[in-house]
Amino acid sequence: MRILVIEDNAELTRQIKSTLEHALYVVDVAFDGEEGLFLGETEHYDAVVLDLGLPKLDGIDVMERWRAKGNDVPVLILTSRHTWREKVAGLRAGADDYLAKPFEFEELLARLEALIRRATGHSSPIMQCDCGRVVLDTTSARVTMEGNLVELTALEYRTLEYLMQHDGQVISKTELTEHIYDQDFDRDSNVIEVLINRLRGKICADMIKTRRGLGYQLGEPKSDA
Ligand code: CA
Repeated sequence: MRILVIEDNAELTRQIKSTLEHALYVVDVAFDGEEGLFLGETEHYDAVVLDLGLPKLDGIDVMERWRAKGNDVPVLILTSRHTWREKVAGLRAGADDYLAKPFEFEELLARLEALIRRATGHSSPIMQCDCGRVVLDTTSARVTMEGNLVELTALEYRTLEYLMQHDGQVISKTELTEHIYDQDFDRDSNVIEVLINRLRGKICADMIKTRRGLGYQLGEPKSDA
């Protein structure tokens, strides 16, 4: 899962980035509203952490412009003032949740996880596939197969998590690449094939299906989707 953090306080940004990376998210950062707006329009994120008081362009403006263009990425706003007006303005402008500064990083993590779960239609942090043989817990970033811990690299974990969050859907290599690497990574879709094959070797080989020319699919297509 890939997160965009837009926050002008460099120290806070560093702490948020490190917290999220520790939880195996990929993190891009922007230090002002214009850069954040641009990244949100050109890159694909699973969620955005958006400070409201930003140089160049206010957080509310950033969000309103995204929403006006149909960008419905889940947004968690950070409010520095404890007034209810700011929270209400943020929610009305299209934010999905808010957190008032100062906050605990654990709470930020928990709220982001919940936002991403809601956006992808999952109600529990525990996801299962292959009749419950493979279980992924987004809270602890751990994967087990038949109860045994599976050792995965950060990239392998992100790949499996993304496929499980979107189970039943065919995910292209491009989409996968966009959600497991940050903006500075030199992306090469051949790497994805290697990654998927390594993952198949660690879980069950037939769990991730190749849809030739289209991408990869985990689980069965949903009939009502
Ligand atoms: Ca600020």
